[in-house]
Amino acid sequence: MTTDPRQRRKAALDRRIKACRKCDRPDRLNEPGVTESAPGFGSIDSPVGIVGEALCQACMEKQEPFFGGSGRVLDRCYERAGRDKTDLFITNSIHCHPPDDRDPYPHETDNCAGFLRIELREIVQPRLVIGVGKFARAALLSLYPYPEARELNWPFRVPRSRMSDPSELTYLLFPPHPYWIMTRPPPEREKYVRRLARAIEWGFDAVR
Ligand code: SF4
Repeated sequence: MTTDPRQRRKAALDRRIKACRKCDRPDRLNEPGVTESAPGFGSIDSPVGIVGEALCQACMEKQEPFFGGSGRVLDRCYERAGRDKTDLFITNSIHCHPPDDRDPYPHETDNCAGFLRIELREIVQPRLVIGVGKFARAALLSLYPYPEARELNWPFRVPRSRMSDPSELTYLLFPPHPYWIMTRPPPEREKYVRRLARAIEWGFDAVR
């Protein structure tokens, strides 16, 4: 058993997420193998967090956010940034898999906000949080209200003023969802990968 208090806290939170039954209408979430949850994935020491909307079917089965599907676009971003997926911290605005990959309902996002808050604000505390999709954006803007966080523009460009005190601010970035990018022509996809990879690189560099 780990002696690191943050690891212990994460393990306790993961157990709470797996046992949670807060969302039971109109669909019963967190049914094992059907609408099951997966806690945040990757390194709790990462300076870069990625937040998606909800678990897809394959992600639920693998117990890993952004596994396959549109996650392959993000895989290319990690690779181009010189990182493994496990170097980052990756989670979702709701931790369960909604039936038929439907959008999360507002009450589900509200119910799950406490778990997201503990993951991001209390355990991992990434300096750069990347939210993909409108539900992730809404959840993050309520977790990091202005002026506590600085929103970076998309397409990403390295900010002129380098972070002098990395503990000073959290930076938020909201690129389009990779699912949408998969529908775009190859040059547009390539540009997305290049810019998101640069943001990830910058997020890691900023805390060196
Ligand atoms: S979405 Fe979140 S709050 Fe709702 S049942 Fe799943 S873990 Fe619990």
